[in-house]
This record gives sequence, C-alpha cells and structure tokens, in this order.
Amino acid sequence: MATVKCADVLNTFSCLGESCEDTCCQGWSMQVDDATKQLYEQSAPELLDSIEPAQEASWIMRKNPATGFCVKFDNGLCGIHKEYGDRFLGNACHFYPRATRALGSHLIMTASLSCPEIARIALIEGHTSAMADKEIERLPFGLKNYLPVGMNEDDALAVHQVFLSACADESASAEQTFLRIASAARSLERIDHAGWPSMAGYYIEHADSLLPPPETNEVDPFNLLHALCGLIVASHKPMSARLRRTIETMEAALAVTLDWTKVQISADDRSLNAYRQLQHALHKEDTLFVEQVLRRWLQMQMSLALFPFSGLGNTLSERVTVIGVRLAIIRLALFCNCSIRREESLPNVVISVVQSLSRFLDHLGDASFSMMIFTETGWTEEARMRGLLKK
Ligand code: SF4
Repeated sequence: MATVKCADVLNTFSCLGESCEDTCCQGWSMQVDDATKQLYEQSAPELLDSIEPAQEASWIMRKNPATGFCVKFDNGLCGIHKEYGDRFLGNACHFYPRATRALGSHLIMTASLSCPEIARIALIEGHTSAMADKEIERLPFGLKNYLPVGMNEDDALAVHQVFLSACADESASAEQTFLRIASAARSLERIDHAGWPSMAGYYIEHADSLLPPPETNEVDPFNLLHALCGLIVASHKPMSARLRRTIETMEAALAVTLDWTKVQISADDRSLNAYRQLQHALHKEDTLFVEQVLRRWLQMQMSLALFPFSGLGNTLSERVTVIGVRLAIIRLALFCNCSIRREESLPNVVISVVQSLSRFLDHLGDASFSMMIFTETGWTEEARMRGLLKK
C-alpha cells in the first residue's frame, strides 16, 4: 500500500465503461511499459500478440484496424483485466485517467480532462483542487520525481498549492488568474529554487501591477484555429469524431475554412464580423457558466502539470505560454460550440469540447513545434499573450 495526495476530482470518479462516449479503449495509443512487457514474456507469452511496437512509445496495445478498439476489448470490458487480473494491465491501462507524480516522498495523483467523466466531475461539478491522503494498492512503475535541486519536498508541495489556490479566486477571471500565474512563473524563473517557497505567493499577489499593456491582433482568433490545425497535422494522429465536430463548429462559427492538406485557413471580412458577433452570442447566464468552466479548466491544468514543476515545455516561460495558448483555444472553442450547438445541453457541449481538445492537447509529448508557432505569432511575449486573452 502507498499513500498518495489524491485530487478531489478522483474521489467520485468511476469509469463509464460501455456508456463512455469517447472511450480510451478506442483510437488511443495506450502505452505498454517495459515491466508489463517483461511480465507477458515471463508469465503470459500469449499476450505478446496484443501489443505492437510504436513510434511514440516502445510498445502500445494493438488495435483492431477495422474498429479502432484495443484487440483485448471484449463486450465493453477489458479482456486482459477479466482473464488475467489487474496485475497484467500496463501503467497506462491501469491508471488512466489518473496521473501520478512524485515531489520527493510526496506522491501526488490527479487526472486528465481527456476522460469525459473526469471532465464532467471537474468542469461541471467543480471538484478541481482539494487534495486528501488516500491509500492505494499500486503505484506506476518508474514514477518520476519532480523535486528540484535546492528545495525540500514540503516547500515544493507548498509552492504547488500556492498555484492551485490562485485559481480558486472566484473574483478573478480565468484569463486574469492565468496572467498572474504567468507573471509569477517568469519571476520565479529568475531566482534560485531556494527562493521559490517564500516568493511564489508574493509574485502572484503583486503580478497585476507588473503586467504590460495588452498588444492585440484582430486575426488572433483565426491564428489560434490555424495553429490548432497545424499541431494536429504535425502530430500524424487520427482525429476523433468528437474533435472533428468541435473544430468544424469553430469553422462555422467564425466563417472560416481550414484546408487540412495545405494547412491553411481562409478568413475574410465576414470572419471578423462573425467573431465580433460571437462575443455577444450567449445569454448572460451561459457566459457566466463558461467563465466558471474556464476557471476550473485552469485549475486542472495547474494540477495536471504539477505546476510549476512539470508540464509541456523546457522552461517555465515555455510552460506558461503553452497553457496560455491552450486557454485561448479552449475559450474560443467553447464560445463557438456553445453558441451554435443549441440543441444540446450546455454542460454536454462543454464536456465534449474540452474533452475532445484535451484528448489531443494533453498527449502532445514535445513542445518544440508548438513553441515555433507561438514564437511566429508573438504569443511568447507577455504583452501579446495579454492581448490574445483580452475579452
Ligand atoms: S475515457 Fe474515462 S470514462 Fe471513458 S472508458 Fe476511459 S477511463 Fe472510462
């Protein structure tokens, strides 16, 4: 048994199984870790037929090419789990949608919004931030320790909690909170790790006065959609039906067309008008709901990234740029989809949009191509990021 600090979002989580609208057993490259492959070699060699080599990881679960389902998927259940037991599931299959990381001896378990049920519990029910000790029977093999040199583990955990708490400020918008976090992260980057515990809260508290005036660009919304298209094409991963719907709705709402072969976007004067109208398309209460969802989304990003200790990007500046652009993409996608998909309930649209985008964005393993795009658009600059997130 091991004790983990478990995010509130997992307390009531239960896999939706057969009724899941975007199951992780279909269309995903579920990684198989070395320890599990060795277990198959030694104790169940027949299971080696269910795995295959892959580019992004050494081995993944093999999929049925006709259906996209894992070959061991059996009537809504995992055939390996049913026949061999949980011990024979690799880390990814056993733990998904959970993510576990270490800060010294502290083990922190949270979850990804790429699972529809996690998205519902976090974004609609609002279980996002609190952590409580929980006993678990199994830990992932090869758990990574993110404790920086020069900081003790309790201080590191306290720094992480400062960033989680910053997102709980209901008086600030997600955009404002993000800008405070980004400013604090850039300040922390300039000092030794030993100073982080005493300075993290101070930097967040005083960030507003340090923010540069926003530099806006009226074609930013179209650049965002174009950047998303470029990232999807460069990933060489198939697009899920849900993600396709999210993006096609964005095209319709913004009166633009994406050319996926040439990775181009066509926008004109109609597009600018469509974007301006979009900002007033939702009723007041729906706008407030989406704004609350964005606050919860940001808190989940802090949690999933064990911020500021992990996340996509080589430096803290890169990590906040990635999160800031994602916030802008999620916001744009939510306003486009919520204003057009009126026949569906608002919570369902929110879950579908955020989950479909997270399923793609949370699984990008390298920030270099993203950073190249964000540098070209100027979003790596604080003033441009502020302009991008301006309402
Ligand atoms: S995506 Fe989430 S709810 Fe759906 S099958 Fe996987 S773990 Fe269960």
